[in-house]
Amino acid sequence: NNMLVWFRSDLRTKDNPALAHALQKAQDQHESEPGRRKALVIALFVLSPSEFRSHDVGAVKVDFILRNLATLSEILWESYRIPLLVKTSSSAADVIKDMHQLCNAYSVSDLFANQEYEIDESRRDAKLIKSLPNDHVEFHLHQDQCVVPPGVLKSKSSNLTYTVYSPFKRMWFDVVKKSKDKYLTLARPLSDFPSPMNSVADLESLSIAHPDAIPDVLKGFELEAEKKKHLEELWPAGEVNALQNLDKFCSGAGKHESPGITAYNDARNYPNLENGTSRLSPYLAVGALTTKQCIVKAMEANGGKLDTGSSGIVTWIQELIWRDFYRNVLVGFPRVCMSKPFKLETMNIQWLFEDDVFQSWCYGKTGYPIVDAGMRQLQKTGWMHNRVRMIVASFLTKHLLHNWQHGEKFFANSLIDGDFASNNGGWQWVASTGTDAQPYFRIFNPYTQSEKFDPDGVYIKRWVPELAGLKTSAAIHNPHSVLSAKELVKLGYREKPIVDHKVARERAIAAFKLVLGKG
Ligand code: FAD
Repeated sequence: NNMLVWFRSDLRTKDNPALAHALQKAQDQHESEPGRRKALVIALFVLSPSEFRSHDVGAVKVDFILRNLATLSEILWESYRIPLLVKTSSSAADVIKDMHQLCNAYSVSDLFANQEYEIDESRRDAKLIKSLPNDHVEFHLHQDQCVVPPGVLKSKSSNLTYTVYSPFKRMWFDVVKKSKDKYLTLARPLSDFPSPMNSVADLESLSIAHPDAIPDVLKGFELEAEKKKHLEELWPAGEVNALQNLDKFCSGAGKHESPGITAYNDARNYPNLENGTSRLSPYLAVGALTTKQCIVKAMEANGGKLDTGSSGIVTWIQELIWRDFYRNVLVGFPRVCMSKPFKLETMNIQWLFEDDVFQSWCYGKTGYPIVDAGMRQLQKTGWMHNRVRMIVASFLTKHLLHNWQHGEKFFANSLIDGDFASNNGGWQWVASTGTDAQPYFRIFNPYTQSEKFDPDGVYIKRWVPELAGLKTSAAIHNPHSVLSAKELVKLGYREKPIVDHKVARERAIAAFKLVLGKG
């Protein structure tokens, strides 16, 4: 009658409903039958390289997952004597088989997990829910990814899934304010339960001693040693670091050098500001942190208010609501999980594809400094500022007229914060193929975006060192307007921009107009 907690995208112990409910059930059983051996609580993570591949999870995120698993394992064992078993499975079908075997081997009566909403994951869980009762195992699925779970908020006029963010957000605020306890209470902390949770002798009798070592690398997902070290410094793993970063961001004094949450309204648009945004996305993506923890902390900094008070704080909360919005879209319109655009008619857009053009975009060699800077930041750090994500995505889909799905895949493979719903939602917004998308005729001008949001070229110079010596603003944002091809080649930069802005813009509008009509 043991409890198995299956960790997936929730690599933390705090605010973890699946874990808290498993402990609660073990405790309740013990209290109702004190004479019986107390149920053991065992934790599990299934590593599936083939799933990583099929979902375009790249080496940078895999490395971060492994590092987070190591810290999770340490906390679970050191504080609670809960072993974290890390099993490798070769396919989704094998995961189901393996779960049955594990439940048998460890006399599991109850399996606990937090829900994942993507289509493959939902189908896997549905299959498991159907099959486990044959083994007398109950599967308990909890919600942790959203503050308001998908499907709860429906458009007032049509009772259908919201496809526009603003009314969704208004409804979200209404509902959460009315039922704060329901939506903003964190899962029961582990400190509420006796520690250690398990008797080591009982664990040994089931041949579970100390947790297995977390594999260092997975074949095909290795990182170069230097890059790995750099990423470890930039993104230290684990919920302790995640919560510390959240605290720091929320207590930011609002100064220009370290803006923090109260200055977020303005600072969030400037990619050169190190702390203009929270940089918590990698932790949210692996579940070392929850949206709820972020909102609770932000409200503390806002005197308990949710949608009034500091405009910086309210804007930050609104960004977090985008996470709920895109998960809601994913559940309401599962086609977005099946390689289809939200607006089906955009499948008729006559995209181009040229591999060398695409590679130039991927590796920051387009001749547009702000685009190149963004793509190189991504390569070096596994992360890119949101403003620049929008600029580079617009450049690929509009200026280069390449299908957004190539960009989505490349991002998923390169990002440390790769998250299907936000990545897909972000790409489809920019490409004008999604819910509430950018109108197709409104095309970002990379030169003016660059002048506006990186006025001194600090961000560009940092990531495109060839241009670091340029003095005038015109040269930094549009070097081809000032320097000759020869001078640029001497600096090591691209002789000519990959496309002419005006020509590319007109080409994009024409291609989109054919499909999306009125312009
Ligand atoms: P902050 O500005 O501090 O915001 C706090 C949190 O709110 C973020 O960590 C994130 O979880 C959430 N958030 C903010 N903006 C958005 C948004 N537009 N959509 C959804 N959630 C948001 N975000 C990802 O987490 N993973 C992705 O794979 C991803 N891909 C993207 C692709 C494109 C083309 C675009 C335009 C955006 C993408 N985003 C993605 C959204 C956004 O760029 C990042 O969440 C943000 O840059 C993360 O930095 P931060 O943690 O400092 O954010």
